[in-house]
Amino acid sequence: MHEDARISRRTSLLKIGGLLAGAVAAGGWKAADSLSATDEESSSAGPAGVASGVVACVLAPEQTEGPYYLDDHKVRRNITQGKPGVSLSLRLTVVDVSTCKPIRSAAVDVWHCDAGGVYSGTSVQDTEDARFLRGIQRTDAKGVAVFRTIYPGWYSGRTVHIHVMVYLGGNVVHTGQLYFPDKLTDAVYRRLPYSRRPNRNTRNGADSIFRNGGSRSLLELRRSGTGYTGSITMGVQRS
Ligand code: FE
Repeated sequence: MHEDARISRRTSLLKIGGLLAGAVAAGGWKAADSLSATDEESSSAGPAGVASGVVACVLAPEQTEGPYYLDDHKVRRNITQGKPGVSLSLRLTVVDVSTCKPIRSAAVDVWHCDAGGVYSGTSVQDTEDARFLRGIQRTDAKGVAVFRTIYPGWYSGRTVHIHVMVYLGGNVVHTGQLYFPDKLTDAVYRRLPYSRRPNRNTRNGADSIFRNGGSRSLLELRRSGTGYTGSITMGVQRS
């Protein structure tokens, strides 16, 4: 299945990302290697810690590949295309991991499944020609890319996630997945249209990809109207 292929590739990328994180930490970048496993779960570490100024920077799992060409049709802020669900604003900040300074004009590419667990653009799910819940935005001077979407649904064997890639000058500098606190997902999934489906079968702790550094890619979520705003800072390496 199309998505499975992506997942297995991502698993290996996350592993490489972990090695990179270790290498950078050993080179004098303090935040990651001074954290215990417990610290990584707490709000003072990781992306939330960056936002609150507790830690200086975060190295998100990443991998360089390329060249890669952007699909111009996906350049848009609102990616919902009428798909029903709880509204979600994404505020994704890209910083240079060696300086912690925001990176302007990075292209951020996101995609996720709908409330029923279906992706656009896949022949397996008969959505080859559709582009719902996929989009690209450029970061502003503060390194921020904003999207309007819906809270993702779930599909079997995976916890709730959003795929993300960051491109700089045509090269992929970050490949990863963004995650949600399980308690919040529980609350969201009690609402329509999510509540029409059975309970998801995989939570964060049981997801093999999440377990490989996913706690550093948890979105920080705040209520916003009837929905939520999800924020995260992704540290990337300019090569
Ligand atoms: Fe996926």
